Amino acid sequence: MKAKVTLLSGDGIGPEICQEALKVLSAIEDKYDHEIEVREALFGGIAIDQTGSPYPDQTRVLCKESDAVLLGAVGGPKWSDPKSETRPEKGLLDMRSDLGVYANIRHIKTYPQLIENSPIKNKYLENVDIVFVRELIGGIYFGQKERNENDAMDVCQYTKDEIIRITQVAIELASARKNKITSVDKANVMATSQLWRSVTTDLIESQFKDIELEHILVDAATMHLLSRPSDFDVILADNLFGDILTDEASMLTGSIGMIPSASLGNESFGVYEPIHGSAPDIQNQGIANPCGMILSLALLLRHSLKLETEASAIESAVNETLNQGIYTADLSNKDVVDTAHNGFSNRI
Ligand code: NAD
Repeated sequence: MKAKVTLLSGDGIGPEICQEALKVLSAIEDKYDHEIEVREALFGGIAIDQTGSPYPDQTRVLCKESDAVLLGAVGGPKWSDPKSETRPEKGLLDMRSDLGVYANIRHIKTYPQLIENSPIKNKYLENVDIVFVRELIGGIYFGQKERNENDAMDVCQYTKDEIIRITQVAIELASARKNKITSVDKANVMATSQLWRSVTTDLIESQFKDIELEHILVDAATMHLLSRPSDFDVILADNLFGDILTDEASMLTGSIGMIPSASLGNESFGVYEPIHGSAPDIQNQGIANPCGMILSLALLLRHSLKLETEASAIESAVNETLNQGIYTADLSNKDVVDTAHNGFSNRI
């Protein structure tokens, strides 16, 4: 098949892990006879440096002309001055909103090979298999913002339609799994959470009686994720809570470097990226774990290009690599390999 992918390597370890994903993509093209045109565009801090904007117009155009976007990570200390006019992370929010990708799917599954690497006791980690559905283009990250020297404000707003739209994604995923949704909110104090709770309840109880719906407060959710992680199937959360909880949940797998994500809208188009950030603390050391990035490529092939066999081939290659004990430094203390020497593409 022929397809167009826009690559946004971004900042920090972004370019290092994107190079590894490109090697794997090239192996897929050779083996399965595809022609996937990869067009790279500026995004994040590097785009601010070169154009003044973290999401320049040329990047916007390329993304919109593509079948999918593959994204590394953005941000870093160079662009973190609270007084600066724009930030790399603003590009992320603008892009997600501009491309209409409202559902961020993050699958947290423990790898038996990595169970010893998790800071959580082994007995809690068996059978952990959670799909997070995070609302991505609403809530407090997108509400009205104001700031002066003595005062600052971030408005959190959700409409009923936005909540229905993201709940439907969770319903679809839960229906193909264990029919269980845990919806996370802060309904004891937040108006948006009260609306969230009543909309999700009405929708699921009126039309999807097979689905078991559980509500938990976000503060309790942080605890339950560590004390009973294998009880969860699909976790539905707003933008802020989903962002925080998935970083916490990544520790169940042993490293945030292992986890891919897909940000989807109504069509097959999607933005695919690892859940971690630009990791400036390990930038340019060649030690970043490329698995989350490579597994994001697998999600791109599966969801946007409908190439299930190829996506599974990548996931098997990652699994085989772990089976062979080939680990980056975040996964082991001894005999580690660097980012570029995992040999994933040879296992396609
Ligand atoms: P981070 O996810 O970049 O790093 C957290 C910790 O995890 C660090 O110790 C890092 O070394 C480690 N880590 C992350 N990815 C790794 C990998 N692939 N292999 C091995 N170790 C890895 O979070 P942070 O340090 O809070 O944020 C750094 C920058 O990234 C900030 O500017 C933040 O705003 C930005 N950020 C960007 C995104 C994104 O691009 N989608 C997401 C989160 C944070």
